[in-house]
Amino acid sequence: MAFEGLGERLQATMDRIKSKGKVSEADVKVMMREVRLALLEADVNFKVVKQFISQVRERALGSDVMQSLTPGQQVIKIVKEELTELMGGENQKINLAQKPPTVIMMVGLQGAGKTTTAGKLALHLRKNYNKKPLLVAGDIYRPAAIDQLETVGKQIDIPVFNLGDKVKPQEIAEKALAHAKEEHLDTVIIDTAGRLHIDEDLMNELKDIKELSNPDEIMLVVDSMTGQDAVNVAESFNDLLDITGVTLTKLDGDTRGGAALSIRSVTEKPIKFVGVSEKMDGLESFHPDRMAQRILGMGDMLSIIEKAQTNVDMDEQKKMEQKIKDQSFTLEDFLEQMDQVKTLGPLDELLKMMPGANKIKGLDKMQMSGKEIDHIQAIIRSMTMEEREKPEKLNASRKKRIAQGSGRSLQEVNRLLKQFQDMKKMMKQMTGGKGKKKNPFGNM
Ligand code: GDP
Repeated sequence: MAFEGLGERLQATMDRIKSKGKVSEADVKVMMREVRLALLEADVNFKVVKQFISQVRERALGSDVMQSLTPGQQVIKIVKEELTELMGGENQKINLAQKPPTVIMMVGLQGAGKTTTAGKLALHLRKNYNKKPLLVAGDIYRPAAIDQLETVGKQIDIPVFNLGDKVKPQEIAEKALAHAKEEHLDTVIIDTAGRLHIDEDLMNELKDIKELSNPDEIMLVVDSMTGQDAVNVAESFNDLLDITGVTLTKLDGDTRGGAALSIRSVTEKPIKFVGVSEKMDGLESFHPDRMAQRILGMGDMLSIIEKAQTNVDMDEQKKMEQKIKDQSFTLEDFLEQMDQVKTLGPLDELLKMMPGANKIKGLDKMQMSGKEIDHIQAIIRSMTMEEREKPEKLNASRKKRIAQGSGRSLQEVNRLLKQFQDMKKMMKQMTGGKGKKKNPFGNM
């Protein structure tokens, strides 16, 4: 995942200053030097770094900070706030037209992820805004691009407007708009051609399409793995087309993350989305504050909760909560819960977003691909309904039968039963024993 190196370095610096009761000017100076190096090493644009450091330093040396009771923590707060500002402050949503159709023009270099992101966006708009998108195959120079968009469309069941590779992209865009009106499709997403480098022909073509289709959103797609180049590309596209938003792709790779931290500041255009996998659901809204928290190891609980809310059946969840309160939670419920957990995606990714997760050694090497969950589910599925409700009935011969039925070992069956007992005990403590409601997390 992106930002690992930067996160580690910044956190080490922050840890050193965190608990200081008194922070001297010299401390701030040393710290700023470390932050500066960490940012440069993460491939953040040097002008951006300079500006950032001077802002943090000025605020950190302010008398309200130095004389406060917790100067170390104040400084960390400032770094977090400035990081958030650097990445654009608030999350910016996609522009939608007051009167349909909304037109979104996808631009970017070849291989940046335009076609993939066009599909992801279509899915995002249908899922979250109830939109009916049309994907438009406007990249006629690379025949494979048209096929690729057709494949993407089929995969997510979104119509694709395709006139082959003999019609000029300008004409395709015009006809696509007319087609969308006829078919009552309210969002038109135009995939355009990309080149390996920016050239005049391409830019003229894009300018033409822009003029013809009057887009509400010109979404520049940039590959975060290209580091400083991503920033230069963004600057050029912005100068020529006056883009309205940026999607930064491949943030799931081991990019150092510098692009994410520089693009906003250099172009003054917001990063609206980030791509986090090759799959169609691998698009996330970009929240600068949450990203800053993640970089500083403060975790990203909000993203986890949002993810849970979109993927988990909330009614089901309420029922489970009630069962936990009544202490009538059974192995059958446990089985269902695990199905829900699986819809959240790879557990290790989720764990990384939790506060302090960066401090858990070896987490990055941990492979929790859901296999363990599959094993546990297999064991429970080999039990009768009665056994799932009343596991205390499980004697040695029943356990042996279950182990054989699920293809797991007897130890694993025993371990699961012990874990389930422990979990029930914990639930009992959390709910205060006799159904009394008590916040398990204290005053957070
Ligand atoms: P285009 O030339 O700009 O249309 O780029 P494509 O959409 O064809 O993407 C180029 C490659 O990047 C493809 O293999 C995509 O699957 C991959 N890709 C795009 N976005 C992401 C992302 O967010 N994460 C990862 N891991 N791969 C991505």
